[in-house]
Amino acid sequence: MKHIELMDYPSVNTYVDGRKCKHCAHPIADQESKTREFCRKRVFSNGITTDCKEKYWSPQRRIEAQKAKEEAIANALLKEDLNGLEYLNNIQISWNSFVELGLQLTHALKNYQTVDGATFIFNLGYIIINRQTYSVTFKFN
Ligand SMILES: [Zn+2]
Repeated sequence: MKHIELMDYPSVNTYVDGRKCKHCAHPIADQESKTREFCRKRVFSNGITTDCKEKYWSPQRRIEAQKAKEEAIANALLKEDLNGLEYLNNIQISWNSFVELGLQLTHALKNYQTVDGATFIFNLGYIIINRQTYSVTFKFN
């Protein structure tokens, strides 16, 4: 039985950009949105629908892609974070000065708390926040 597409693709479509569906490699027309990565959802005359986007993004693939994206962002940020701050090695600065540096503590590889402060470990070194004096000390590797 031959499937007939109900959705009508206008004949003026061109395929110069050579974009293809990430799932089935069917050509994507240049007239489609530049962000389109998959075929349009198609409905056949027998009521069956195909959705390449849904087929491509299985729950497992979705989780893996999200994890890889987050790791890549975190790694890029970690590299940048302490770069250029080496002149602060062993120097204690005020909390306000620290805030002005814009260093993201959430980018730390690890952190641990002690009675009088907290230590955040980055790949280039670590910083100690003294809770009593609200000062910050940098220690570079
Ligand atoms: Zn497709």
